[in-house]
Amino acid sequence: MAVAEATPPGRDFIRDIVQADLDAKRHTTVVTRFPPEPNGYLHIGHAKSICLNFGIAEEFGGRCHLRFDDTNPTKEEQEYIDAIERDVRWLGFDWGKHLFHASDYFERLYQWAEDLIRAGKAYVDDQSQDAMRASRGTLTEPGRNSPYRERAVAENLDLFRRMRAGEFPNGARVLRAKIDMASGNINLRDPVLYRILHANHPRTGTQWSIYPSYDYAHGQSDAIEGITHSICTLEFEDHRPLYDWFLDNIAVPSRPHQYEFARLNLTYTILSKRVLTELVRGGHVGGWDDPRMPTLAGLRRRGVPAEALRDFIRRIGVAKANSVVDMAMFDHAVREVLNKSARRRMAVLRPLKIVIENYPEGQSEELEAINHPDDPSAGTRKIRFGRELYVERDDFMENPPKKFYRLSPGKEVRLRYAYFVTCREVIKDGAGEAVELRCTYDPATRGGNAPDGRKVQATLHWVSAEHSVASEVRLYNPLFMSPSPDAANFATDINPNALEVLADARVEPALAQGGNSPEAVQFERQGYFCLDPDSKPGKLVFNRTVGLRDTWAKVSGAKGA
Ligand code: ATP
Ligand code: MG
Repeated sequence: MAVAEATPPGRDFIRDIVQADLDAKRHTTVVTRFPPEPNGYLHIGHAKSICLNFGIAEEFGGRCHLRFDDTNPTKEEQEYIDAIERDVRWLGFDWGKHLFHASDYFERLYQWAEDLIRAGKAYVDDQSQDAMRASRGTLTEPGRNSPYRERAVAENLDLFRRMRAGEFPNGARVLRAKIDMASGNINLRDPVLYRILHANHPRTGTQWSIYPSYDYAHGQSDAIEGITHSICTLEFEDHRPLYDWFLDNIAVPSRPHQYEFARLNLTYTILSKRVLTELVRGGHVGGWDDPRMPTLAGLRRRGVPAEALRDFIRRIGVAKANSVVDMAMFDHAVREVLNKSARRRMAVLRPLKIVIENYPEGQSEELEAINHPDDPSAGTRKIRFGRELYVERDDFMENPPKKFYRLSPGKEVRLRYAYFVTCREVIKDGAGEAVELRCTYDPATRGGNAPDGRKVQATLHWVSAEHSVASEVRLYNPLFMSPSPDAANFATDINPNALEVLADARVEPALAQGGNSPEAVQFERQGYFCLDPDSKPGKLVFNRTVGLRDTWAKVSGAKGA
């Protein structure tokens, strides 16, 4: 699997262009924009575009606009507008007072379209959509001129005004630019500027019966806002001649330039709003913020820090060749941040009860545990040890293979921060499954070391049966089974085990005291977790943000967490 070509952090071909433009005084200030269409939630691919546009503005002392590309009222909703604003802020960026909408410019765009008509550069076409498609030609064949192409200016103006006034039904007519039906670039074969659409727009209501196309609205919006560098993904490369044609043929107030970069693709992930919308609508996930989703809302709920997302985006760099980034690289970036910040706690995900037979009944004691091994300022906390404890079911084997160093009959292990314990007897249920271990402890090993210097080969995490808190733990795995899922057939590729619910986990009481804090913690030996908003008093729910095993560090030689 190809990985994005390595670019030194903070330098790429777009930043080089910006630097050169500033050096040559072609611009005094760099102005960029992030232009989402409010028809879904932002995903990690959008984060790449956000970090690029806002990052360049920050680094070069310019500004970045947030502009909603709200030209299609049938798909756009206020919920998406709110979510997009929340997610951009969460990612760490601020557009200040530079919040705009393509709909702010509807009147101006309309007047410019009349200008094009008057200049003989646009016409109203009455052909059906099918007829238009059929006459557009192909990559190897030129298109054919529309029978309406030579309409008189006065007739075009009259029809266009009546389109605006709402006289015609949806789809009856369009306004097209008069460019070149034989162009080798299909985007220049008389593209549609306006279509009739009787719809309620979130901002302009029913004021408009016609809406501009993306291609027509985008560059002119850039020009109105004084955007200097209009940065978009590679699929718009073939649209650039059209972007320039509009700017050349309309009396715009400034002259932006479009630059294209490779979109982010990730293994096991589909970054398409259409597919993400279908995952939500089809009930394949719990919503846009389901932690299995690659949306910023989903990643945030899963516990991914914004800083880790920004680090990841910086590391993958910006290139002009499409590639696929290994999900393991993303997980690595998340671990690096969480390893530094997350407090350590003990939680038993699949509990197995152990009873310390030589520990006095009804008694318990406090032991001291450190909150972060590399950060003494994080301090310590008290944990309760007693006669009945839980350990991880996987840490016990009745008939262990040779290299299994954890609990098994007769084997001595260390319980972290506590004592050495030895397994003496296995109690089983009718099905032969271990339900309890009878153990003994060595009181001389308090704190986890033997005065006689004897060693054990394993240190296990544990919680007190009496003092621990019952919790649900949700483990997440990739949403798709295939490393390169097919957007056209995504439903058959959904991983049925993407969410694994452990309903009987036990966590140390310190975890219940933080309230509904989203603060990240490391469950020792398990991974990084955060509290899910589904938590209620008496029933905590934790999401696994990422496990501890770092496959990326291994393959790349990068320093692991
Ligand atoms: P749609 O198919 O609905 O157009 P989109 O993902 O392009 O989906 P937009 O809201 O138009 O959605 O995207 C806003 C900006 O984010 C655009 O400039 C787009 O190029 C960029 N973008 C979208 N997907 C990616 C991606 N995977 N990697 C980098 N940038 C992306
Ligand atoms: Mg788009």
